[in-house]
Amino acid sequence: METLSLEAYLKEFDFRLQKYIPPPSDWTPAEQAIFQVPDPYRVELDSAKTMQFAAIRYAFQRHFEHNSMYRNFCLEYGISPPDICGPEDLEKIPLISDHFFKEHPPGRDFAAWIANIFTGELPRITIRQTQPSFEEVIQAFNAAGLVIAYSSGTSGRQTVIPRDRRTYNISEYAAARSAIAMSYPQWQYNMSGYLLMPNPFKTNVYAGKVCQVYFDAIEKVNVAIDRQIPAHIVRMAMSNEKGFQPTLIRFINRLSNIRMIDRIIHWLEMHEKTDRRIIMVGAPFLAWAVMNRLQKQGRRFDFGQRAGIVTGGGWKIYEGQRLPAAEFRRLAQETLGIQPEYCLDVYGMVEGNGWMVHCPEGHYLHLPYTYYKGMVLDNNYKPLSYGEWGRFAFLDGAALSYPGFIITGDMVRMLEHCPVCDRPGPVLEPEIRRASGEDMRGCGEEVRRMVSADIGGPNEQSGLST
Ligand SMILES: [Zn+2]
Repeated sequence: METLSLEAYLKEFDFRLQKYIPPPSDWTPAEQAIFQVPDPYRVELDSAKTMQFAAIRYAFQRHFEHNSMYRNFCLEYGISPPDICGPEDLEKIPLISDHFFKEHPPGRDFAAWIANIFTGELPRITIRQTQPSFEEVIQAFNAAGLVIAYSSGTSGRQTVIPRDRRTYNISEYAAARSAIAMSYPQWQYNMSGYLLMPNPFKTNVYAGKVCQVYFDAIEKVNVAIDRQIPAHIVRMAMSNEKGFQPTLIRFINRLSNIRMIDRIIHWLEMHEKTDRRIIMVGAPFLAWAVMNRLQKQGRRFDFGQRAGIVTGGGWKIYEGQRLPAAEFRRLAQETLGIQPEYCLDVYGMVEGNGWMVHCPEGHYLHLPYTYYKGMVLDNNYKPLSYGEWGRFAFLDGAALSYPGFIITGDMVRMLEHCPVCDRPGPVLEPEIRRASGEDMRGCGEEVRRMVSADIGGPNEQSGLST
């Protein structure tokens, strides 16, 4: 197969994703930093620093001016836009805890809460119900053109992030572009894909929503979890609420989940006989369930260089057990014949629009440093230097509809350069943990809990054993 130049490769990608790109005359500094650069992970450090500062400073000024909640918060800290004069001042920008995005009241007050954290003008929102449910409030906003998505944690509280269509488009474009730039020259439009997540068109769960762009970047996409998933089901699954699945529902779910894994295997069988490139995208847990089933059946495929897996959302496979990513890559090679450099993991979260992607050479998570600044904080929320473990925080220039200056519940270690490849920007070490006391969450964990009761762990008699 003929290899496109990087320039032609990215041009083809932009052609497929043109509906995500606003007219250039309209670009904010973050959009310039995203739409204008060729490979986002190979931008020379000096110019990246200039772009990053412009993007974050613009976002800070925008939220300060158009979001009274955030402005008041900044004023408490005595920080306003004139204090942010150069890149060295970025760390002064007041950070919001990710807990803040979980502290929403029920009913109509929830709508007021969303309006309060939203930056800029909201469209007219119509809520017909007098006592609207969580999902009904979100649907009312989304019917008016917003893309509000949520993610659930084991505490039972949902993290809600109000994206406008523009911020959502930037985020989607950046996610896909990050992954395909890292996979150069493996991507092409006429590939076949399997989405190991809920159908993005049938859910407001972020785990699903975030993958909408996959349908524009790839010609043919199958979806593993194609049913509607209402908010209360995700919440119950995540918080282990009692009576989550009455026996009959559980039984039906179990059958449908076994069929789900069988359908994916059937799709692999079909593509074994074609010469199309294939790519699976989604929760590591589901890819693992497929590989585990193949292994139990003593079968293997040999896709070689024409297949890849892009995972995201966390590596928990069973309750209390993580699958090391290296073990996952070994299994992919053993059962599918997929080479380790074609198994890439993406680290991102519902609160942000920056995507940290594995480099194929070393599987370190590279930060998109032209518009997004990652930081590592100590227990007093003071920035630490490179090489130290601490809490991950970020300044996100691409969040235009809510202040994306956020302290997360994840523990990370950031390095100034990748120890393996020659891309110039900073990286996170691939092993990311939840900080103690933080509830367990993540898109992969949501998917795992929605289906895992039915697929079974190592010590369970599952319907999947052969
Ligand atoms: Zn690297």
